[in-house]
Amino acid sequence: MCGIIAYTGGQQAVPVLMNGLRRLEYRGYDSAGISVSSRKKLRTWKSAGKINVLDSQLPESIKAQCGIGHTRWATHGAPTDENAHPHTDTEESVTVVHNGIIENVDALKDKLTVEYKSETDSEVLAHLLSQTIKEKKCSLIDAMREVLSRVVGTYGIAAISAEEPEKIVLARSGSPVIIGIGEGEMLAASDMSALSRYTREVVHLDDGEVAQITPDGFEVTLLDASPTDKSSMTLVSNIEDYDRGGYEHYLYREIVDQPDTVRRTISGRLDKRFNTARLGGLNMEARDLLQIQRVKILGCGSALYAGMAGANMIESLSRIPCDAEPAAEFRYRNPVIEASTLYIVVSQSGETFDTLAATREIQRKGGFVLGIVNSVGSTIAREVDGGVYMHAGPEVSVASTKAFTSMLSVFSLLAILLGRSRDVSPQRGAQLLLALEQAPDKIADVLALETHIADIAKEYANSHSAFFIGRTSAYPVALEGAQKLKEISYIHAEAYPASELKHGPLALVCAETPCVVVLPESELLDKSMGALEEIKARGAPVIAVTDSSNKRIDKLADHVIRTPLADELVQGMVMGVALQIYAYHSAVALGRDVDQPRNLAKSVTVE
Ligand code: GLU
Repeated sequence: MCGIIAYTGGQQAVPVLMNGLRRLEYRGYDSAGISVSSRKKLRTWKSAGKINVLDSQLPESIKAQCGIGHTRWATHGAPTDENAHPHTDTEESVTVVHNGIIENVDALKDKLTVEYKSETDSEVLAHLLSQTIKEKKCSLIDAMREVLSRVVGTYGIAAISAEEPEKIVLARSGSPVIIGIGEGEMLAASDMSALSRYTREVVHLDDGEVAQITPDGFEVTLLDASPTDKSSMTLVSNIEDYDRGGYEHYLYREIVDQPDTVRRTISGRLDKRFNTARLGGLNMEARDLLQIQRVKILGCGSALYAGMAGANMIESLSRIPCDAEPAAEFRYRNPVIEASTLYIVVSQSGETFDTLAATREIQRKGGFVLGIVNSVGSTIAREVDGGVYMHAGPEVSVASTKAFTSMLSVFSLLAILLGRSRDVSPQRGAQLLLALEQAPDKIADVLALETHIADIAKEYANSHSAFFIGRTSAYPVALEGAQKLKEISYIHAEAYPASELKHGPLALVCAETPCVVVLPESELLDKSMGALEEIKARGAPVIAVTDSSNKRIDKLADHVIRTPLADELVQGMVMGVALQIYAYHSAVALGRDVDQPRNLAKSVTVE
């Protein structure tokens, strides 16, 4: 969701900015633009639509060694050329790109008598900056601090001024900004993927910081101009090498990568000596684990569903009451925070705004928060009290797949650890470790079912609606299956616990609504089969996803997707992959934009 790139140094800025914008494309956007500074003049190009549209409007050669760029995800005003960033003041002496939302935009606008060229909340920043520079005869960074002391909202900002040709001023509050350090050149971006081609040496800005970069260095200050002591970190993983891997879509690559990504997530974390999990970053001693009276998991979207599955695992193995809740709902309901509760926040990007806000609310009240995060060095990863990295590698497709299975892998590890600190025996611990160790091979077996799953998906691709049904531990798997289908194929899909069917949704179950029933082998299998009967009786096509060899399923279901038998700890992870393949082939059959579905963005950094 929305992106910033900035460059100052010895190279021509435009190719660097355009490359950066392309690297940010995966996050989802509706318009793009760049602005460059040379010979005390600023020039700006921007347009609604894809980056290729912007590219086609650029003159053949633009000579400039400093500039800023933006991909917009509209919050205020439609995606039009005028509303695209960068925005400028009336004299075009300053240009600004902004990620986030200015909440007090109306009050700020009332104080100015200028003509606005856009409907955005962001444009006011350009006018305020230029007015402050004129009135106070100050530099751009001084003006930025002054203006931001009046701004309420979230922002990641990059700005340039005609009068200070090589300088870029940056600011952050609630929306990420990372400085990239090169040799004789400096960059900045909202996402590491836009920097990785140029440097691995980065500095993450924290909220409330205002920075300035020139080709020779950077300086970071607080809003009151006091300097902050920032040191750089070197990133290890090579995002630049990450591509579609020869496949047509990132999503497909990310689905088929899952045996490896799950292996990476659990690697080095299976403690066979004590038949438990080893998680280095928790910052909790064994004694702290024993004090936990309750576990509360928070996330948004697929991370929430992973959290619901994780809550089942933790409660069933450790017998500690555990549940999951949408992060935004939680923070707005003035929740009770208990010292004896372990709070776990889950976010692939580590920048999900609502999850970050919930983290801060819990910490403000004195709660202890663990993070399950994929993106190393991200804001949530830096702010939590302890955490577990997913090590799934970059996830580019907007719809989550490999991050979801890695989240489930981390929850399996946590459940084993908490279980073994309580009632789970060493023998059962050993079985659980083995189940987790074998999960990647079972996922590979599910991937081998692709042709069969694709045939079923194609048969029902033209349905308007689908239901996904699952009981207890299978319910979060059904929720995520429905989520995947609606996200990328735009088929309306709803998930229900099996027992809820007769309390409402059966009214809609008919020959036109395929029902995907997730049936893990368990003591509840017979009960869940009751739902199959109810659906069949209404004439709806049934697609059973099961690891059970029960023959009745074959009699009742129209199609059976049989996944390898797995321990209940990893059943969800294994069966979930079948649902990802189902969604993928439905979307492909319908010719959808699989990697960048409409209206969605990869990391949701606004409220
Ligand atoms: N609120 C701004 C706008 O609507 C910025 C949106 C974004 O983060 O891309 O233009």
